[in-house]
Amino acid sequence: MSSKLPLLVIGTANRKKGAELEQLFAKVGVKLLALADFPDVPQVPEDGETFAANAILKASGYAKLLGHWVLADDSGLLVDALGGEPGVYSARYAGPEATDEQNNQLLLRKLADVPPERRGARFVCHIALADPTGTIRAESDAACRGRILFAPQGNHGFGYDPLFTILEYHRSFAELGPTAKFCLSHRSRAARRIIPQLMGLVDEGEMG
Ligand code: IMP
Repeated sequence: MSSKLPLLVIGTANRKKGAELEQLFAKVGVKLLALADFPDVPQVPEDGETFAANAILKASGYAKLLGHWVLADDSGLLVDALGGEPGVYSARYAGPEATDEQNNQLLLRKLADVPPERRGARFVCHIALADPTGTIRAESDAACRGRILFAPQGNHGFGYDPLFTILEYHRSFAELGPTAKFCLSHRSRAARRIIPQLMGLVDEGEMG
C-alpha cells in the first residue's frame, strides 16, 4: 500500500483565509496545497448571487484548471440592520479593489446611527469540495452570530474581524485571535460539517 497522501488544493487567493482553512483541515490525512503553489493559474471569477454558488464556482473552476481535488469556501458578513448587507459583496463592499480597512470604515458609516441592540450580524460560510473533473462531491455551510462594534478593536484575523464581537466574550474576533476563531467561527463550523464527508472519500480511496 502506498503511503503517499492524496492532494487537496485550498482554492482561495486570500492568504489569511487560506491559513485558517489549512489549520482547520490539517489533520484530515491529505497533503494540502495552496493556490500560491500554482502561480500560473488564472483567477476564477466569483460572480454568483449566493455564497453556495460562489463556493461551487471556485471549487469546480480551480479543480478543472488544476486537475486536482479543490476545496473552496465563500463567506461573508450579513448585518441585520442593513437588510443583510454586505452579503456576497463583503470582500468588495467599498469597491472592486477595496481594502479591509475601507470596507470596515464604510460599514461603520452606514451603522453610525444604529444603537448597540440593533447591531446584530452573522458571518456565514459555504464550503464546496470538487474532484479533478470539477464535479462537486461534498458541501457544507454554517453561521456565527455576533454584533458590530462602533470602532475596530484588535489586530488578529482579517476582513471584518476587528468589528465583529461575540456577545458571550465581549471581544472582537480580532482581539480573541486564531484559537477562538478555530472553535467558534462560521468557517470552523462549516469545516467540522464537511470533514466527515472528506474523510469518507479519503478512506474509500476516491482521492487516490
Ligand atoms: P470571499 O473570499 O469572496 O469569500 O470573501 C469573503 C469576504 O468576507 C472577506 O474578504 C471578508 O471581507 C469577509 N469575511 C469572510 N470571512 C471572514 C472572517 O472570518 N472574518 C472577517 N471577515 C470575513
